[in-house]
Parts: sequence; C-alpha cells; structure tokens
Amino acid sequence: MTCNYCKTHVTPQWRCGPDGPRTLCNACGVRWGKGKLELPDGTKAVHPTQAAKAAKAAAEAAAAVGQPAAPAEL
Ligand SMILES: [Zn+2]
Repeated sequence: MTCNYCKTHVTPQWRCGPDGPRTLCNACGVRWGKGKLELPDGTKAVHPTQAAKAAKAAAEAAAAVGQPAAPAEL
C-alpha cells in the first residue's frame, strides 16, 4: 500500500482520506481529520465532518450576535 499524499509505504496504521478508507498513512490521516492536509494539486483537503462543524460554528456565532452570517470574502 502507498499513502496517497506522502507516498510512504510504512505507517503504523492506514487511515481514511479524500479518496476513501485506508488511502492515507497515519500522519496524513490525522492531518486530514483536522482539515489541515494540503493536496498535491494545492487545494486544501477539508474533512466533511470538519467542514460541517465549521459551518455550524459560523452559523451559531452569527446567531449569537443576532446577525445573519456574512458572506465569506474571496
Ligand atoms: Zn502520508
């Protein structure tokens, strides 16, 4: 097996990544889980759970101050 991100063959544990279960090594899998894994093409891989959590946190923060969520600046 090969890690899809860092291409290592040696890891104590295979983890799931953007391409499915057991496609990342332990280190990359942890970073992916935290939404901090940058893909080789330069895009940032965000774990679906983390993305949902971030969206929920933003909505709750907006609700807390009684303001609608401001659109993200691009
Ligand atoms: Zn890796």
